[in-house]
Amino acid sequence: MNTIEQFNEHVMPTYGRYDLVLEKGEQRTAVSEDGREYIDFGSGIGTNSLGFCNEDWVKAVCDQAHKIQHTSNYYYTKVQADFAKKLCEATGYSKMFFGNSGAEANECAIKLARKYSFDKYGRQAERNIIITLVNSFHGRTMATLSATGQEVFHNYFFPFVPGFVNVKANDIADLKAKLEENKGKVCAVMFEFIQGEGGVVPLEKDFVKAIFKECENNDILTIADEVQTGVGRTGTLLTSQQYGVKPDITTFAKGLAGGLPIGVCLAGEKCSDVLTPGTHGSTFGGNPICCAGGNAVLDKVLSEGFLTEVTKKGEYIREKLSDHPEVTGIDGLGLMLGISLKTKKAGEVCKACLDNGLLILTAKDKLRFLPPLTITCEEIDKGLDILKKILSE
Ligand SMILES: *Cc1c(COP(=O)(O)O)cnc(C)c1O
Repeated sequence: MNTIEQFNEHVMPTYGRYDLVLEKGEQRTAVSEDGREYIDFGSGIGTNSLGFCNEDWVKAVCDQAHKIQHTSNYYYTKVQADFAKKLCEATGYSKMFFGNSGAEANECAIKLARKYSFDKYGRQAERNIIITLVNSFHGRTMATLSATGQEVFHNYFFPFVPGFVNVKANDIADLKAKLEENKGKVCAVMFEFIQGEGGVVPLEKDFVKAIFKECENNDILTIADEVQTGVGRTGTLLTSQQYGVKPDITTFAKGLAGGLPIGVCLAGEKCSDVLTPGTHGSTFGGNPICCAGGNAVLDKVLSEGFLTEVTKKGEYIREKLSDHPEVTGIDGLGLMLGISLKTKKAGEVCKACLDNGLLILTAKDKLRFLPPLTITCEEIDKGLDILKKILSE
């Protein structure tokens, strides 16, 4: 029995997978069981932010594994304290909570927002509604799925967690109408600056401005889901910096520990002490090995000139693709890019790229690039040559 048959016999078929078994990775190249090489424009959906087996990252993770791998959250470890300090200082947030995934980071944000209003306005006020956007994606747990404004993910799993109201992205009138309809009942507005799974759709600056104005005027918390856009992916540590706003809460996950499971919820001064002992927790949250990986990622991403390079490489990809007759649009920021195609189907192009040695992603009807932040221009060229050949066929 080969690997694929063995896997499928024992693992639930929740994913549409390609017939590809990856065995190892070297920087920005993945290598299959049968020895074929693939240039990586997907980085494990934006998780392997430093590529495969980055030397400093491997050392940090292995050193930590040799020291202590987990302690439970009854005790303290230095590696967690160092990571939290580094992340809070770099982002300007007061405090953070440790989880293991994007969904858990968002779950924490949802609980925090509801408790903030509960503490301040009392239970009777029922100030617990969280506004999220149509076409958003916030995770697969029941609460984050309820927050997610896409019907396709909602089949089968009724009933949902109540208290989520969807507003159309970039529709200020709809935002105002939903706030008015739910006056005094809304505790937070949650959004992605660039809707990732929704098809790499950026929010307009005026819409973001309107969210912040309404929230400030009504003591409603702003929650930025930067699970995909954060940690340097778009050319700044936080994408909020490019929008000139400071959300009360930001969540990070995917790329934060360079391919190890982590998710954090960062809170500003206004709400950093809302979650008190016993109100939230996670057995593996803050796992020391993941924190060691996270420290290596932050050291690299925050190093002199690194983020400027991310921005430049994003622009380089745009330049190289902009005049291709099959490309009708390029959305996104930095190294989070969505490419619209004129006639070809994104899924078919993605499969053809794979057959030719390039790993890319799709999001809705677009091609999606989330390459490792450390990718080089030569590797970009190599990958784009494969893609262009397929687009021209
Ligand atoms: C991937 C993603 C999530 C969910 O993260 P998991 O680690 O799969 O739970 C949530 N929000 C956004 C914006 C994402 O891209």
